[in-house]
Amino acid sequence: MSPTAPTRRPTDAAFVDEDEFDPPTDLLNLPWIDVHNHAQTLSWTDRERYALSGCEAMIMVASGYHWTPYKPVEADDVRFLWDDAVNRRAAIERNHFFEAKLGLGIHTGVRIEDPDELLDAMDDYCELDAVAAIGETGVTPSQHVSSWDVDEQRAIVQAQMELADTYELPIILHTPNRSAESKRSYRPEVQTPGYEKNTGLSTEPVIDGDNPALEAVELDVEAMRDAGINDERVVASHADQNNTAYLMEQTDCYLSFTIGHSWLIGVTAADVADAIDEYGPDRIMIDTDCANVLRTDPFALKRAIFELYRYGIDEAAIRKVVLENPRDVFGLGS
Ligand SMILES: [Zn+2]
Repeated sequence: MSPTAPTRRPTDAAFVDEDEFDPPTDLLNLPWIDVHNHAQTLSWTDRERYALSGCEAMIMVASGYHWTPYKPVEADDVRFLWDDAVNRRAAIERNHFFEAKLGLGIHTGVRIEDPDELLDAMDDYCELDAVAAIGETGVTPSQHVSSWDVDEQRAIVQAQMELADTYELPIILHTPNRSAESKRSYRPEVQTPGYEKNTGLSTEPVIDGDNPALEAVELDVEAMRDAGINDERVVASHADQNNTAYLMEQTDCYLSFTIGHSWLIGVTAADVADAIDEYGPDRIMIDTDCANVLRTDPFALKRAIFELYRYGIDEAAIRKVVLENPRDVFGLGS
């Protein structure tokens, strides 16, 4: 027993039982893998933050319409995004030492003219060692600038799932979130501060049921069944309270919770902890989705590791979620 502290009068220290808490020091140096980000669009310094906080590997996704300047979007515009990522990937690894692999896909957040041209080209990209996943893709309830018929979207998603199956690659789904009601809206001309997307250019929804975000995920799952790809190759990114029960109970897909922009979509480490409590850690991952077009936090995954522990998740489950599942599904890491 340590001697009584020589403080003039008792402090908090006199009431703390030191034996009661055993800090999880292994978590300080636990490597982790981010299975969905857009780090090729971040600054060098932001990528360094990944390295500084223990990132072992990442999937840099090139598919997003945020980076194609012209609308309507043509196949070549998306092809440029793929080539830009291919061009820079090796330099990023040499600069920061984590393993950086690519996800290439056709996102349906904006209608793309001649998507078949992209699908044809994608075959050859899938052969590259640098490409570790297809995506992000997935049926989206409303588009930017120009809407895209639901059946056509579903066909593009299914075709990418078929390619993923052929090349034995995982596919990353962009499952739409049901965002929380905001307390107050911003001036229309400033739109959403922290997000550079011009939300004023969103088109009327092409899915207009009670729960379009969930209906979109159900269409993705139908496409998955029709494509014949194994559920275990499908990683539903942007898991949230609206889609977790459906995906966990009706499929064997992996769910990845996006926590790099919680201010926008409302998903935090608490949602991840709840999902682990309910379903166990075997089909859960976490991603940051960090990108230059919105306020995102490269330290988010590292912070979530500590937060999960505080929320009562044991160290083995945390390791499974942030390291082992990504290694297994994407073939990453040492
Ligand atoms: Zn993304």
